[in-house]
Amino acid sequence: SEGANDAKNLKVKLVLLGDSGVGKSCIVLRFVRGQFDPTSKVTVGASFLSQTIALQDSTTVKFEIWDTAGQERYAALAPLYYRGAAVAVIVYDITSPESFAKAQYWVKELQKHGSPDIVMALVGNKADLQDRREVPAENGIEYAEKNGMFFIETSAKTADNINQLFEVFFVESIESCC
Ligand code: GDP
Ligand code: MG
Repeated sequence: SEGANDAKNLKVKLVLLGDSGVGKSCIVLRFVRGQFDPTSKVTVGASFLSQTIALQDSTTVKFEIWDTAGQERYAALAPLYYRGAAVAVIVYDITSPESFAKAQYWVKELQKHGSPDIVMALVGNKADLQDRREVPAENGIEYAEKNGMFFIETSAKTADNINQLFEVFFVESIESCC
């Protein structure tokens, strides 16, 4: 049950937010299965995945990862989706300024309606598309700093920084949420 965390087995609800097409489902698939499917279309259908990480002191952290089924296209994503989330990963696409603006919308939404102690990460995905970049890394860094969030650029395609995203700062952030 919720709140049943102890020193050995922690459970963390993680939600992904961001515009449709920024790569949320690919990031999850890359993390959980180590795969990237270049033919995948925009996600249809709900998904809920979990991944357990073992820490050095034999504590385990089970991430319950909630990925939207395309509802992010509608203005009001049910607060039910992010209720109780300890961690939110807000994703944009570095080739899309619109998706960066939408990421900022989600940050504000969570600041207003999310758990007060939620740990948020801002992720600039598709970092492999450097020649099509339209959002400078500095913009992401600056926005994340102002809002007390972690920041990282990833590529679900090449796997760049995907493990760092989940393993490094979420494991580090667990101390503040569990
Ligand atoms: P979602 O709607 O946010 O879940 O986005 P998806 O995970 O379904 O990905 C949308 C599209 O972007 C798909 O065509 C993916 O192949 C592509 N994509 C996702 N991540 C990357 C990435 O890191 N690099 C590149 N080049 N394409 C990506
Ligand atoms: Mg998706």
